[in-house]
Amino acid sequence: MIVMKFGGTSVADASALTALRTAVASATGSRVIVVSALAGVTDLLVEVTTEADQGSLDGVAVRLQALLDRHLDIARDLGLGEHPSLESDLQAELTRVAARLAAPGGLAEGWRDAVLGTGELLSSRLVVAVLQSVGLPAVWCDAREVIRTDARFGGAFPDREAIAVLSHSVIEPLLSAGQIPVTQGFIGSTADGRPTVLGRGGSDFSAALLGAALGAEQVEIWTDVSGLMTADPRIVPEARVLAEATYDEAAELAAFGAKVLHPATQLPLIEARIPIVIRNTFKPEAPGTRIVGESQVEDDLPVRSISFKRGVVVLQVRAARMLGAFGFLRRIFEVFERHEIVVDVLATSEVSVSLTVDPSPRLEAVVADLRVIGEVTMRDHRGIIAVVGRAIRDTPGITARVYQAIADVNIEMISQGASASNLTFIVREEQGPETVRALHRTFFGSAP
Ligand code: ADP
Ligand code: ASP
Ligand code: MG
Repeated sequence: MIVMKFGGTSVADASALTALRTAVASATGSRVIVVSALAGVTDLLVEVTTEADQGSLDGVAVRLQALLDRHLDIARDLGLGEHPSLESDLQAELTRVAARLAAPGGLAEGWRDAVLGTGELLSSRLVVAVLQSVGLPAVWCDAREVIRTDARFGGAFPDREAIAVLSHSVIEPLLSAGQIPVTQGFIGSTADGRPTVLGRGGSDFSAALLGAALGAEQVEIWTDVSGLMTADPRIVPEARVLAEATYDEAAELAAFGAKVLHPATQLPLIEARIPIVIRNTFKPEAPGTRIVGESQVEDDLPVRSISFKRGVVVLQVRAARMLGAFGFLRRIFEVFERHEIVVDVLATSEVSVSLTVDPSPRLEAVVADLRVIGEVTMRDHRGIIAVVGRAIRDTPGITARVYQAIADVNIEMISQGASASNLTFIVREEQGPETVRALHRTFFGSAP
């Protein structure tokens, strides 16, 4: 059994859905299909929640109608007009969201997640219809009945034990009956039935959770590039596809900006050693990248890829009186824990700590609390560059080559050695792309 997850661009329009259908039809054996919302739809739903917050029900109605029209147009382009229930199913989904947003007495807790998850509920209906149109035994399967999560709305944590039980009772009977379940990425629900989402880009994580629960042979992430590459091809056009990478390398790259994979994807799969394979929906002949526990790649380059994450905030806390005192780090991290802010990169000296976080409205309160401990500076519009490869620490001269490549760039912070497979530094955001290109030239040469 395999899990095949298709991202937003792979379901974006009629030609993408036709390519998806070919990929699913070409696979053999049992398949579970996981789909994202059509490209751009989750962003539009974010706008819908903003309009709803502002009480602009007209704005909400216009956007929801546009959403329905887009799906219906695609259905028409694909010749799915004859499908017995597609149009009414899409319509019903939109009617449910509209009713929720117009609920008298105000919006219930967690309403936002229900709205954000609508895109997947719609796209999965289209996918079922397009697969059925060529006789594939696709059935719609509600991920909210399987992906059990806690109630951290906006970025819920999955309950893997419950997901295992629910996968067996909901999905396995469909597979045993020879059907192809089509379910939604990104969404889940709490034990008491409130809809949740796993956080942006979370459909990859959904696929991995289902793959682990069902003991899949592999989890395939079908997207718009031919695999995990030596850099984001939007920054480095000559970037190359890696045949193989380790879970650790993929996780580091994903955490530091390689959007091709959600940073948590490998977590449920490591223990059972289930490979992740990244494939290109639009180039099914390309083998893609296999992400596994230990790589068997022959030409074992120490640096495998360079990633770049924009929009990062750097905080520095200095407290001279901490020289020789203990407890400084604990007090700082307590502040982040209290405000539930995730710290990405960290560098420390005896009297100061620099760290990076994502922008958040809560940072103001964090800074206020840190000022009790020491002097705080905050710099935004920073970027993290991560040079990743599992042999970096053991290969002499890598650091020197990195420094040489970026001699003209002002490096604001650097972190190395915390993990065997990465060297991370912070630059001003606008210097990121050129720095990535310089590093790419150093480690991978220019275009062939
Ligand atoms: P999907 O909608 O299929 O989930 P995403 O947009 O989330 O796709 O991720 C695919 C994109 O990730 C690619 O189009 C590419 O621009 C970007 N990307 C960033 N870093 C990398 C990398 N190292 N390798 C491949 N793609 C990358
Ligand atoms: N549709 C969701 C998003 O755009 C989840 C995903 O595509 O992975 O964030
Ligand atoms: Mg994605």
